[in-house]
Order: sequence, then structure tokens, then C-alpha cells
Amino acid sequence: MITFSIDKLKKEDIYLEGEAPPSFLEVPDSEMIAFKGNIHYKLHAALISGGILVKGSASAGYEGLCGRCLEKFRGEFGNPDICLFFDKFEGAELDVTEDIRTALVLEIPMNCICREDCRGLCHQCGTNLNKTKCNCQETAPGYKPWDKLNDLKL
Ligand SMILES: [Zn+2]
Ligand SMILES: [Zn+2]
Repeated sequence: MITFSIDKLKKEDIYLEGEAPPSFLEVPDSEMIAFKGNIHYKLHAALISGGILVKGSASAGYEGLCGRCLEKFRGEFGNPDICLFFDKFEGAELDVTEDIRTALVLEIPMNCICREDCRGLCHQCGTNLNKTKCNCQETAPGYKPWDKLNDLKL
């Protein structure tokens, strides 16, 4: 639960920094992505005219399976610019748990790759091209896998 005391906010801004377990996301692990390590958040809440403004950042770690080279890797995702405004609030506390969860879940990487320039696996021999070179390109310089499509008569 990530909450701010309304009474305290009426007196001063609140700076809140904390951690939550990966289960906070309420997103199950999959083959492509497993949520590891704690979620970190850092928030600043202020009472301004008409409502409460909450700004800050949140991030989480994960272990992904690269869609190109099929290697496991560690990554991080997060939202560095959370900005929430509440013009309606009831009770003694403002609960921003769901809002922070949503802000983070929206940032979960959809396309899991270990790095932007991952070279992936050779389509012919399966070699991980990040680690070594294979000879497929050299031995077949004119190899164009899609040329065969031209031979198809429709
Ligand atoms: Zn990769
Ligand atoms: Zn190869």
C-alpha cells in the first residue's frame, strides 16, 4: 500500500521513498519475462489548489528471455515521470497504490530483447551471433532466403 496522510499533506509536502516485492505488479511471470528484485519508488506529494499532485518515479527489475538470441538477460523498466493529480479524495489517506501499479505495468517491455543491437541467431546454423561468427554468410555469399518466394507460381 502506498498512501499519503491527508492531514500531514495539509501541513507540508510529503516525500516518500520505498520498495515493494515483485508481486506488487500482480502480473504473473511468463516464459519471456520474470519479475525479479524489489520495485523502487520515489514520490513527492503536494497539496495544491484544487487537489493533490503526486510526482515521482518507479522502477522494477526483470529477467528476460531475448526474443532474438534466446539468452537470458537482466533488465530494468520503469516510469521516470509519474505525474498524478487527484481532485477528489476521501478519508484520512490518499491511496496511490493502484496508480503506481498501473504506471509501472504500462512500462513492461513488450518486445524482450537483450540489447538494441542483438545480432540474434543465424537462421541457418543457429549460432548465437553475439558470441561467435558462423561461416554461413561467407560460404553462400549470394544466399537470399526470400528468392525462393519469387519462384512460386501463384
Ligand atoms: Zn539477444
Ligand atoms: Zn550460421
